Amino acid sequence: MTRFKGRPNLEFEPLITQRSIQEQELKKHLRHCARHSPYYRHLFKQTGLDPASISLETLSSLPVTSKTDFALHNREFLAVPPGAIVDIVLSSGTTGKPTQVMYTERDLQRLSYNEEISFASCGIAPGDITLLTCTMDRCFVAGLAYFLGIRARHAAAIRNGHGTLASHFEIIKSIKPTVLVGVPSFLRKLALFLNEHGVNAGQTSVRKLVCIGEPVRGPDMAPLKLGADLHALWNADVHSTYASSECITSFCECTALQGGHLHPDLGILEILDENNQTVPSGTTGEVVLTPLAIEGMPLLRFKTGDISFILPAPCPCGRTSPRLGPILGRKQQMMKIRGTTLYPQAVFAALDEFPNLGDYYLEIDSDDNLSDKLIIHLGARPGQPSPDLIREQLQARLRVTPLIAIDPDEKVRHHVYSPESRKPIRVFDRRKPL
Ligand SMILES: [Zn+2]
Repeated sequence: MTRFKGRPNLEFEPLITQRSIQEQELKKHLRHCARHSPYYRHLFKQTGLDPASISLETLSSLPVTSKTDFALHNREFLAVPPGAIVDIVLSSGTTGKPTQVMYTERDLQRLSYNEEISFASCGIAPGDITLLTCTMDRCFVAGLAYFLGIRARHAAAIRNGHGTLASHFEIIKSIKPTVLVGVPSFLRKLALFLNEHGVNAGQTSVRKLVCIGEPVRGPDMAPLKLGADLHALWNADVHSTYASSECITSFCECTALQGGHLHPDLGILEILDENNQTVPSGTTGEVVLTPLAIEGMPLLRFKTGDISFILPAPCPCGRTSPRLGPILGRKQQMMKIRGTTLYPQAVFAALDEFPNLGDYYLEIDSDDNLSDKLIIHLGARPGQPSPDLIREQLQARLRVTPLIAIDPDEKVRHHVYSPESRKPIRVFDRRKPL
């Protein structure tokens, strides 16, 4: 086995150089898929497509691979002997059963490189101390990926994972980390915990937050209320990251904080519309990735199910690689309410603007008129804005009129905070799957 070797400066090179490297890597990747992946060998045979004839220009002639394809044919994606696997991650599948994503040693080296250059781009340097508030275990990959990247960057990691607020607080006081990695709503909770316990979060050693799992920026790239709160509470830069465990590829915002950079030697990024056609830069669609240089479970045109857009190059940081905007929602959670397309994240962003609002979750259902129905369950809180005012402002901002149900606050919190999940669960989709 050869060690994985990246090209960390490629993202600063002209696009033409990046494309030429991608072309070479794509050729190797297609060859590996066609020779060693039972799923793709079958696909090439079935479609009559010759993998050797496919280039960046004609990549769109290949069928896409959906999460359902990956779940239904999970083992057929394995392109190495089982003995070459060193790590197995479970990803939430679309069939109700978790799917396995299997990594070789070289895949982990590639992941480490991906995170190393991502951390470098957001200004993390040797000597930084990073407190990880995301777990290393429970079959997730994010915590492991961050740990590998921090180590490769010659910075230090504190792996406190899903520790209590009090334990993170003690670590912040005693070890003085300069970077926090975690879910944004949890990092906000942590700052408030510090403030309540007599330590101003904005005056601690923390100068950077690396956020996963929830958007901190809106479609106009301006911070959402959550992102603005984090910046104000911690007095720190708030970097957004996006990753797909199936693709073993992540995007991280650089110091310009304007979208996550594609590392061109690690993947080919497309944004597709509902008919799987490429949309122009700046147009919203589904994020589709062809990760390059993967050994264990190589993928071609993998549909992530996440909705975003590409920000064209160049970036003020000097990198010329395209950037991925914030995740605006999950395709599965898209609502169509009387002709208007809407994602839960837009509703969250609008609700978060209200001061003194109780906790909330969304219930999505179908009504009889081929339209979806949105009910906002809002926890009762003294002095919060009236349902009429909330409805009026949401109508002005989102162009839909949701139903608002005021429930006991405790009941809403019981729905939102599950002991199994660090992320609050705010969407309950009652629609029948298609
Ligand atoms: Zn940049």
